[in-house]
Amino acid sequence: MLDTDETTALDNLIPLRVTDLKEYEYCPRVVFYNTVMPVERKTTLKMERGKDEEFRLDALEKRRSLKRYELASGKRSFHVWLESKRLGLTGKLDLLISSPRGYFPVDFKYSQSRPHRNYAFQLAGYALLVEEAFGAKVETGFIYLLPAQEVVAVEVTPRLKEEAVERLAAIRDMIKDGILPPPTPFRNRCEDCEFRNYCGDVF
Ligand code: SF4
Repeated sequence: MLDTDETTALDNLIPLRVTDLKEYEYCPRVVFYNTVMPVERKTTLKMERGKDEEFRLDALEKRRSLKRYELASGKRSFHVWLESKRLGLTGKLDLLISSPRGYFPVDFKYSQSRPHRNYAFQLAGYALLVEEAFGAKVETGFIYLLPAQEVVAVEVTPRLKEEAVERLAAIRDMIKDGILPPPTPFRNRCEDCEFRNYCGDVF
């Protein structure tokens, strides 16, 4: 049972979303603009989709490389809302598969490019939430690349989960300090960024 101080500490946690983990890894400034500045937080387009992908997932589950996860015999739940008061974290998972081999979070990605490390952090965030909600270990997640209809398995290691928790603390420090963080060192990410107008020092 939590004592009063611990309960107060949890109540005071700045609420974060799993997508903040992905965006922070992509560029810390994106999270800064979304949280510290009065810029309207956007809901992602992909949240509106998903159900119609069910059929194509059936086909993917028959792939040999995924057989060992026994996904085909698992229960599939789309758009699963997850929340952890302990982590101050929420997220809406595209798909959760619970098979005889365990729980597998699946994130849908609507772009052609291969997933970068920021997607691994997003999966780690979902894994933490699933572990807390269902009292189970999550060791593997999937990124489903919709345009290519390809599934990428991501190992969600204990270290990756620890790093995700460390990043939540770093994001909260950034929000509390209110100081603009350095830009991403990858300038190509700035080209199509919706916040490029705010980053005068980069261009
Ligand atoms: S323009 Fe570049 S530095 Fe600025 S928020 Fe976007 S990605 Fe980050």
